[in-house]
Amino acid sequence: MKKNASNVPDIRKVKQELLERRQEIQEDLMRLYKEKFADEVQDQGDQALTSTMELLSSSLQDSRVEEYNRIVRALDMIEDGTYGICVDCHEPISEKRLKSYPNATRCILCQETYEEREREGVS
Ligand SMILES: [Zn+2]
Repeated sequence: MKKNASNVPDIRKVKQELLERRQEIQEDLMRLYKEKFADEVQDQGDQALTSTMELLSSSLQDSRVEEYNRIVRALDMIEDGTYGICVDCHEPISEKRLKSYPNATRCILCQETYEEREREGVS
């Protein structure tokens, strides 16, 4: 059942850090949520977490929600084995970029090219 070795050597560490960060944000947002929606929130326990996060995503313009969503996507990509690899040129994405955008799917060069194409496509 062992998957092929990843190009990213410390993927476990990255995953661990992302999980910890996600936990932090979750706790942060739950606190925020309880302040904001104090009247509606009964003690619902963990089952309500998913819907709580959905509600928060739609009701809060918070950079932490964005970061949370990025982390969730990044964790999905780790599971898929696509994390940290550029979808266009298949080169590893720089660590620095992944620090800011853990769910980055393109290296910085391909991203620029992609955005240029997008701009031209839209206009
Ligand atoms: Zn690339």
